[in-house]
Amino acid sequence: MTGQHRIVVLGAGYAGLVAAGRLASKARGAEITVVDARAHFVERVRLHQQAAGQRISAWDLRELLEKKKIQFVRARATDIDTEGKRVLLDTATALDYDTLVYVLGSIGDANGVPGVAEHAYSVSTPEDTDRFEAPRGTVVVVGAGSTGIELAAELAESQSDSRVLLLSPDEPGAWLSTRAQAHIRRVLERLGVEIRSDAKVVEVTEDGVRLADGTLIESAATVWTAGFAVPDLAVRAGLSVDGTGRVRTDDSLRSVSHPDIYAAGDSAVVVGPDGRELRMACATAQPTGKYAADAVAARLRGAEPGQLRFRYLLQCLSLGRRDGLIQFLHADDSPGRIVLTGRTAAWVKELIVRGAGWTARP
Ligand SMILES: Cc1cc2nc3c(=O)[nH]c(=O)nc-3n(C[C@H](O)[C@H](O)[C@H](O)COP(=O)(O)OP(=O)(O)OC[C@H]3O[C@@H](n4cnc5c(N)ncnc54)[C@H](O)[C@@H]3O)c2cc1C
Repeated sequence: MTGQHRIVVLGAGYAGLVAAGRLASKARGAEITVVDARAHFVERVRLHQQAAGQRISAWDLRELLEKKKIQFVRARATDIDTEGKRVLLDTATALDYDTLVYVLGSIGDANGVPGVAEHAYSVSTPEDTDRFEAPRGTVVVVGAGSTGIELAAELAESQSDSRVLLLSPDEPGAWLSTRAQAHIRRVLERLGVEIRSDAKVVEVTEDGVRLADGTLIESAATVWTAGFAVPDLAVRAGLSVDGTGRVRTDDSLRSVSHPDIYAAGDSAVVVGPDGRELRMACATAQPTGKYAADAVAARLRGAEPGQLRFRYLLQCLSLGRRDGLIQFLHADDSPGRIVLTGRTAAWVKELIVRGAGWTARP
């Protein structure tokens, strides 16, 4: 090959920014370009706070990246021509690559249940959150995973005109330890959240939601937090993907079908050291973005990448601004017995979120 090796990082979220920063220091001599549809990096892990009316920080991507001699192209990628090794952009231009790092993240899943796309809000992306303003009256939050719990708590704490109803077929935080679940329930109830953990929503309408048992619940606004989906670019480009459209990777995070493409973060299937798939999380996106960059840099030097070392240590949830939950985890990601709660947990969570923001900045 002649000339500089061109690396295009597609997506400037948690995985993409860490990958770009790492490439800038490790893949010396390569030309690195980051593409993102947004002008700013927005702390996605704080979007439930923004939905509750708080201001969250955003960093200018061009400024952030150009300081490190990384080029930034603000555009939406519309397709990948894997034969010609080009990313097609909505600006009617294209970017050539020698290596592509595919880190397009995830979005809210609006397709599983009728009416979600038309009538429900989401807090999955900054654009979703911009559209949402908590109304007077009942806000129904569907889904009691981390996002639903954090959103319900935040809304109940700061929106005195709203009645917050959290609906799910399981106990909030059902995947956590019983101590953790009890704490989540206690705090949510103290904040005034009404919890229904026997409620499977089968339809969202203009006026509310319909449950599997036929009950209709009226709402002034419904927020859907039950599930994430990934952009369909990889499928359309013919990459090997799983049933949800995430890029299948080998143990160096290289696409199993296209060796010049690497993937990390929410839009990749990453199998951890113990053979389990890693879950979608910022806690996964940053280390896998870093590892993918290291793997690319190693191969550019003619070396084989080292092994991905990874384990989750804890999972943390905010429960409003004054309480939280830190669940310590076993190596296999199952919950251990130790949990931190209260203000201490709220602080630990805040420090982790700030740390993730700092780590993301190249
Ligand atoms: C409310 C909320 C709270 C959360 N809290 C936590 C938490 O406490 N802990 C935790 O570990 N995880 C949390 N998460 C999950 C976490 O935010 C994601 O797992 C993480 O952002 C994934 O990082 P990523 O880099 O893979 O994707 P993203 O951060 O989503 O970045 C993807 C980037 O790709 C860009 N992009 C997408 N499509 C295109 C395109 N076609 N062209 C150009 N650019 C494109 C987007 O603009 C975006 O900048 C939370 C998520 C939400 C919504």
